[in-house]
Amino acid sequence: MDGRLKGIGLLEALRAVADLAMPRTCVVCGRKLLLREEHICTECEIGLPLTYFAKLRENPMAAAFNSMIQSEIDSAGEDAAYEPYSYAGSLLFYSGSSSYKNIPRRLKYGRDFSEGSHFAAMLGRELASSPLFADVDAVVPVPLHRARRWRRGYNQAEVIARAVAKELHVPLNTSVLARVRKTKTQTRLHRSQRYANVKSAFMADCSTLGACRHLLLLDDVFTTGATLCACERALRAALCERFGLEEGRRIRISAATLSFVGK
Ligand SMILES: [Zn+2]
Repeated sequence: MDGRLKGIGLLEALRAVADLAMPRTCVVCGRKLLLREEHICTECEIGLPLTYFAKLRENPMAAAFNSMIQSEIDSAGEDAAYEPYSYAGSLLFYSGSSSYKNIPRRLKYGRDFSEGSHFAAMLGRELASSPLFADVDAVVPVPLHRARRWRRGYNQAEVIARAVAKELHVPLNTSVLARVRKTKTQTRLHRSQRYANVKSAFMADCSTLGACRHLLLLDDVFTTGATLCACERALRAALCERFGLEEGRRIRISAATLSFVGK
């Protein structure tokens, strides 16, 4: 046996051979990965800008999400019925120009499910270790419109949600929420246009949903929270229809994403 391969297992030996044929690269900086590195090089892993939001009831993501929901309740003229505070967790925090944005991008545009699931499982473990998310009943990914999903072949939010649901030991629910209207991509829209773009794009049907206390919405990236807020409103309306106003308003709807993007 080649001396360099001594002391490594069969899988690593196979990986060493595969690396020669097609080198694996760090998702963040693009450097060639060493044998025992997976998806990310050691240096970029040490520098991961982790948020630890999931441990905190109040954090910048929860504040933005809850205030957007509240302003929708206000502008719809609904009575100020008490709805439980939405908790929010995100694995990473970065600004738009950071190379760490490649983590959700490689999943979204590069079809790298293994990479996406790796970081989603990290998010899942962080949520699972927080008492705030201990009573989550199901994980609900932000859906794509059927036409877009068909073109892309998969929904990146669902890949993340599946890995998170596994860590939380709860079911993944892809049937309650649907995107019924095609929307422009949010990336090119100004902050103020984003909610108008996604408002009433989602429909929820909770008729097959059993008793629940806490649902967790999952998406890849949180920027303004507009998409997650539109999902939350659709889900809330359907929960009230299914369980009645009083019960439907008592169910907590939280949100989690791979990354939280600052300005
Ligand atoms: Zn790197």
